[in-house]
Order: sequence, then C-alpha cells, then structure tokens
Amino acid sequence: MKIKDFLKNEIKEAIKYKFGSIGLKIIEELTEAEEISEDELINKLNVPSYYLRKVLFKLNENRIILYKKVSDEDSGYYFYYWKLNPDGLKRWYIEYKKDILDELKNRLKKLRDTQIYYCEKDSQEYTFEEAIRNDFKCRLCGNYLNVLDNEKIIGEIELMIKKIEEELKKLC
Ligand SMILES: [Zn+2]
Repeated sequence: MKIKDFLKNEIKEAIKYKFGSIGLKIIEELTEAEEISEDELINKLNVPSYYLRKVLFKLNENRIILYKKVSDEDSGYYFYYWKLNPDGLKRWYIEYKKDILDELKNRLKKLRDTQIYYCEKDSQEYTFEEAIRNDFKCRLCGNYLNVLDNEKIIGEIELMIKKIEEELKKLC
C-alpha cells in the first residue's frame, strides 16, 4: 500500500488528535520526501526547535518516524535526519483504533447494564444508584436529572463499532 493512499482523512484526524497539527505537518512533509533534516523541518514548518523536537521524539517513541544521527566531524555537532516509517504508522493507527473500539464496547456494556441519568447543564452522568442517592439531582448544580435514551445511543455506538471493525479488517 502506498503511504499517500493510506494518509486519508481519518488517519490525518487521528494524528492531529494525538500529535497536534505540527505532528500532522511533519508526517505530511515526510510523505513528500525520503528524508528531511531537522533544520529543514524547522524552516518549513516555522516552529521553535524545542517544540518541533518534542513532537518528533513523541512520533519516534511510537515508531511512526525514525531518525539517523550524523555527527559533523569538524564541529562535533549531531544532526538528525528524519524519515517516515510507513509500517510503524499503520501499526500505530491500528492500535489507536483498537483503543477506541475497546472504549466504545465498554460504553455499550454500561449502557446495556444500567439506566444512565444525566445533567443537561453539566453533561455529568450518573448511574441509577448514584442518582437515587442524590434524590435524582445533579451533584454539581442541583438540577433534576434526565434519563438517557439508552436505545438511541446504543444504536449509534453499534454503528460506530461496526464501522471501525470494517476499517480494521481492511488494514490488518
Ligand atoms: Zn448539573
């Protein structure tokens, strides 16, 4: 699979969510070029080097990008050259989606097992037991709680789960 085809909107959003817009810009630059030096990235993206470096190493921790360290014999300085690791990016994205899937499944289980109450003002949620203990009032603002329409939300979550499972099937 070509990396450019893989870099669809969904994965772009995921990168941006986890590594910020600079993280996404780094990935996009590295998709265009085989290898880029840190100085070049600083110039292109116009960000402070300490910040760029922080994002670069965070991406590297996740094996999404790799680096080559080259020492300059005259000055003794080190230079970093960065490149994309397409397999690593794919693996990271699959794990990211699996985490979301787990969260959604937990949420689904909770919705099926218990009636959930919520405060419209604070979006705070309560289980039946919690709601009864508070006389069906919100702990934060004192307003009366509403009953969540479990069935509607269960349907929406099931749809989201199905979508992610289909996407993962294609990727794995
Ligand atoms: Zn409230």
